[in-house]
Amino acid sequence: MQPKIYHTTDHDIDPAFLDIDAVHVVKRLREAGFTAYLVGGSVRDLLVKKTPKDYDISTSAHPEQIKKIFQRQCLLIGRRFRLAHIRFGHKIIEVATFRAGDNDSDLIVQDNIWGTPEEDVLRRDFTINGLFYDPSNHTVIDYVGGWEDIHTQTLRTIGEATTRFKQDPVRMIRLLKFQSRFGFNIDPAATQALKKCHPEILKSSSARILEELLRMLESGASATFFRLMTESGLLELLFPALTAFLKGNDAQKVYQLLAMADQINLKNKKTLDRSILAACLLYPTFENELDHKFHKHNINPHFGDILLLSSSVIKEMLMSSFAHFPKRINMLLGFILSTQYRMTPKSGKRHQRPKLLQSHEFEFALRFLKIRAMADELLIPDYNWWMNCYRQAGRQSERRGHHPHPSPDHHR
Ligand code: ATP
Ligand code: MG
Repeated sequence: MQPKIYHTTDHDIDPAFLDIDAVHVVKRLREAGFTAYLVGGSVRDLLVKKTPKDYDISTSAHPEQIKKIFQRQCLLIGRRFRLAHIRFGHKIIEVATFRAGDNDSDLIVQDNIWGTPEEDVLRRDFTINGLFYDPSNHTVIDYVGGWEDIHTQTLRTIGEATTRFKQDPVRMIRLLKFQSRFGFNIDPAATQALKKCHPEILKSSSARILEELLRMLESGASATFFRLMTESGLLELLFPALTAFLKGNDAQKVYQLLAMADQINLKNKKTLDRSILAACLLYPTFENELDHKFHKHNINPHFGDILLLSSSVIKEMLMSSFAHFPKRINMLLGFILSTQYRMTPKSGKRHQRPKLLQSHEFEFALRFLKIRAMADELLIPDYNWWMNCYRQAGRQSERRGHHPHPSPDHHR
């Protein structure tokens, strides 16, 4: 099939805006006689005028040939999915060989069958993610109708939607990810397929699902995304307890925290830690349980009770679904939840502890309190009080020759 080619006169991608290292990689591959293009998310983002997070390149060069060109700058990774990572300091440009995929099969079994540029885009998920960009002549190359769909703001699967969702159910989560991120409309065939196929999500690897969800928490569109995940029925299959909460009277409390975290993430270059973002999902449940178990009965819990409560909320809401939930996030999340009780106890008497302020994790709890204060102005005095304590503790340790605390408002 002949692709549609769009020239500089058709699009307004500013060549000066492109990542110079990605352009350099394409140029080196071409000089060595191979075909190479920018592909996927970066081309889509350039066309919708968002700064791409990362740049992927597809090429006719095989992994060993890529290695030969870039030598020590290049690391070949993946067993099933052989990819080349080209390093530029901290930045990594991912280079993959054009692959063919059997688009009608139920399950992808073999991923390293080399293919043509056309075959390479036909195995991708959505038309908006199936465009190539050729930086040597600044053209967009379209085999899948992605250009049209970006301009009419439509999310459409490449190939028949039901088949494509069954083949890889994570694509359903990705559909809602792009809907919440770009506000595009979903093509009716994909809407129907989502209705029919959502139970298939349970067949996907939990590690991949978790990664997409954690990335969405960082995206700046998490409130919308979790609402769409709830409405689609996908979230209920993955997190039944959280979904029950999101369908109840207090759902707004979660969405408000997520919306505040979204504001912060959209503004700052470095996103909030995943533990703080997960706390937005769980904290309102933790608070309700606290009321239910203690405050309603006029009981003042011991801190040990609070620790038990926070770990049982985490267990019920996250661990029961994802047994391999990262330990680091789990640990910090427990600290963040339980420390909120010390920072804003119902009794009004804040539980100041010098050791608490000096712990490295305190900053995480303070950042989360800031999000709570953004959602509920009654908490602003609490936040200011703790922020002050934290600054002073930093100053004291500075006098003693320790490193001062970085301000939670300054990202590290
Ligand atoms: P983001 O901006 O979140 O990184 P992205 O579209 O770049 O979005 P990646 O996970 O980085 O998403 O994937 C890069 C590209 O690989 C996509 O643009 C798409 O072409 C293809 N792709 C990713 N996941 C799938 C999938 N599950 N099925 C088919 N193609 C996929
Ligand atoms: Mg990407």
